[in-house]
Amino acid sequence: WGGPASPAFLHCFPPPEDSMPAPLIEFRDVHKTFGAAPVLNGISLVVPEGQTVVVCGPSGSGKSTLIRLINRLETLSAGEILVGGQPTSRLSGEALRVLRQEIGFVFQHFNLYGHLTAEENITLALRKVLRWRDADARERARALLRRVGLEDKADAYPEALSGGQKQRVAIARALSMRPRLLLFDEPTSALDPEMVGEVLAVMRELAAEGITMMVVTHEMGFAREVADRILFLDQGEILEDASPRDFFHATRHPRARRFLSQLL
Ligand code: ADP
Ligand code: MG
Repeated sequence: WGGPASPAFLHCFPPPEDSMPAPLIEFRDVHKTFGAAPVLNGISLVVPEGQTVVVCGPSGSGKSTLIRLINRLETLSAGEILVGGQPTSRLSGEALRVLRQEIGFVFQHFNLYGHLTAEENITLALRKVLRWRDADARERARALLRRVGLEDKADAYPEALSGGQKQRVAIARALSMRPRLLLFDEPTSALDPEMVGEVLAVMRELAAEGITMMVVTHEMGFAREVADRILFLDQGEILEDASPRDFFHATRHPRARRFLSQLL
């Protein structure tokens, strides 16, 4: 690990020289409906490079949909999402593939390939998408496994790993393409309590290294200590967008207060 990331997608679309650097992510009045049901109702949001944003809110409030829209696991119904200043809603083919390469995604249920070892899960995209030589892909996988504290598990299959270990492999896999942005959808919700800490510790290190992250989580300790900013979502709207300090001590919105009181 080391050296600059290679933001191929962003290199395709450099900002004009006299402008400020574009925010890494920008939502412009984004709406999403499933059938007739509105799920996101006019989300506008700017995330500068380097921020760690925690997204919280009741079940069904649209948190997963919000982050899944960014790498086009869902398609928006209206509005626009820009990544690195570039509109993404119409991307397809190679441009969409490159966008996704820039964005690592970590799922609640790990989504590792059960028939592949930890190392093979991490090297898969490097070998198949980037056509890396085996030796190079393995070298990066080993470095990433070291980074998440699993250097001795390279040859283990997922079924032989604990939940916390699986999620750390999934994080290493999400890092394999050197993304500009990491998205996490409740990465610790499926874990036994004693394994939550080891996953949050890895995420905390990534945040400290400055990679931009959006994290859907109910781990309010993590939010308080690691987030630059907390979004509270309710019924498809952002009701709060605050620093952890303001969110925990001065939350104005009754629904956010009720949400917090149920967690704490
Ligand atoms: P959260 O992650 O906050 O629990 P979601 O973004 O998963 O919320 O879901 C928001 C709303 O959208 C929920 O009412 C959910 O039932 C609905 N929804 C999510 N995904 C789909 C889908 N693929 N088809 C239909 N409805 C969906
Ligand atoms: Mg969800």
